[in-house]
Amino acid sequence: MAYLTEKCLCRTTGTSGPRWTSAGPAHGGDRMDSLVIEGCAVATVDGTAGGVITAAGTGAEYGPGHLVLQGGLIAAVGPGPAPVVENARVVDGGGCLATPGLVGTHHHLFQGLTRGCAQDSGLMRWLTALYPLWAGLDAERHGAAARAGLATLALSGCTTTADHHYLFPRGGDDLLAAGIGAARQIGLRLHACRGSLDVGASAGGLPPDSVTEDRDEILAATERAIEAFHEDGPAAMVRVAVAPCAPFTVSEQLMRESADLARCRGVRLHTHLAETRDEHDFCRERFGRTPVEYMESLGWLGGDVWMAHCVHVDRAGITRLGRTGTGVAHCPTSNARLGTGVAPVPELIAARAPVGLGTDGAAANDNGGLAGEMRQSLLAARARQGATALSARQALAAATMGGARCLGREDEIGSLEVGKQADVALWRVDELGQAADDPVWALVCGPPARLELLTVAGRPVVEAGQLRTADPVTLARDLRAAARALLVARGSRP
Ligand SMILES: [Zn+2]
Repeated sequence: MAYLTEKCLCRTTGTSGPRWTSAGPAHGGDRMDSLVIEGCAVATVDGTAGGVITAAGTGAEYGPGHLVLQGGLIAAVGPGPAPVVENARVVDGGGCLATPGLVGTHHHLFQGLTRGCAQDSGLMRWLTALYPLWAGLDAERHGAAARAGLATLALSGCTTTADHHYLFPRGGDDLLAAGIGAARQIGLRLHACRGSLDVGASAGGLPPDSVTEDRDEILAATERAIEAFHEDGPAAMVRVAVAPCAPFTVSEQLMRESADLARCRGVRLHTHLAETRDEHDFCRERFGRTPVEYMESLGWLGGDVWMAHCVHVDRAGITRLGRTGTGVAHCPTSNARLGTGVAPVPELIAARAPVGLGTDGAAANDNGGLAGEMRQSLLAARARQGATALSARQALAAATMGGARCLGREDEIGSLEVGKQADVALWRVDELGQAADDPVWALVCGPPARLELLTVAGRPVVEAGQLRTADPVTLARDLRAAARALLVARGSRP
C-alpha cells in the first residue's frame, strides 16, 4: 500500500465532489476506522433474500440516505442524514448513488495479454488461435495482465472478482500466486479459481500438450493452493476454488476428482458450461447427455457450484440448475463478441438459480469493466425476449447479490446491510450521461458512471475517479510491454 500512503486522503473539492473531512487518523493506513457517507441516493440491494433475484427489485432505496463504515464493516445504513459519529471522516455524497461494490463471477485475467486477437472468430477458432500464444505465459507477464485487469475492474465499481486461471505451461511459474499478488496490490477481494486442462491435442483436444497437466499434478497443485491461500472468514480477501476448464478440455475423471477434492476441502467448484451449440452437440455425442445432464452425472450440480455462460441450456436444464441452486456466471459481452448466443437469464432467475455477472477474459470482452455488463445483460435479455425481460434493478442485483451468492458470500458481501463487509461503490449520477430521475436506471443504462469512491473493507481503492493503489499509467505500460513480449516470444510478431 505504499502508493496509498504517499497520497493525502483528506481533500476538499468544489460542490460537485465529495468533501473529505477528518478528525481521526488523517492519512493513509490500510483501513479507516470510521467513514460516513451522506447526502447520496442509496440502493441497498437488501431485498434479495439469500441472493435470490426477484421481480420486486433491489430492496430498500433511500434518496437521500447515509452509510457509516466502521472497522471494515457497515455500521449503519438508512434514510436522511447520518448519525453523529465521533472522529469520522465525512463524505458529502451529493449527486451520487451508493450501491454495494460489484461482484464479478468470471474472468481470465491473463487474457488481457491477447486483447484484440482473433477478432472475427467463434469460440473454437478463437481458442485454437490463442492457446499457442498463451503457452508463453509466465509469472511476470501474468502479473502485468492481472494488475491491469484488476485495476480496470476497480475503476468500474468491482470490489470482488473471480479469476478462472486454467493456463499452466508445463514446468512454469506459480501463476496462481502471481494473480493473488496482483489482487493484494490493487486491493480487491479475489476468488482464485485453480483451473486445469488435461485433454491436449495428442488426445484429440484443442490445447497444445504443453499447457496441459497430468491429473495427479493438477489435484496436488490445487490442494497446495488451498493450503497456501484460501481464507475462510467473512472478511476473506482471497479464496480458492477448484475449477477444471470445460467439459471438452477436461477428462471425465478429472471432473469427478475435482469435485471430490473441493468437497473434501470445503471450497467451491467452478467451470465453463454450455457456452456454444458445438459444446452441446459434443456432450450429446460423447456422453449421450446434454451439458447439464453430464455435469449432474458427475456430481457437479449443487449450491457449492457456479458455472460460466450456460447459454445453451434447455428447459429441463434450467429447472435442474434452479432446483440444485447451481450458480450461473452470465457474461453477455463475451457471448456477443464470440457470437455464442444469449443466455436464458430471465428463465434462470424465474427458476431461482443464482445468476451473477462476469466480464469473461479481456480477449473475449476487450473492455474489461464490470459495470457495463449490467447494461449489456439488460439489453441482451430484452433483445431476446422483450422490454419486460430484465429490469435495471434486476441487473444491479445480478451484479451484486447474485454474484455474492454464486461465490457463496451472500451473508458477507453483495448488499448494503449492517454487519456486512464495507465494500461500497459511490457513483456520480449527476453528470452528462446520467441526467435521469432514477439513479439506478442512470447507473445501469447510462454511459459508464464515474466513481467518487470505492471501498473494500472500508479502505478506499478508488477516489474521485482515480485508482489509489497503483498508477494506471505504469500498469498500462507494463501490460503493453508484457503483451508485446508474449507475441514476440511466440513468433506472432517480429
Ligand atoms: Zn471464460
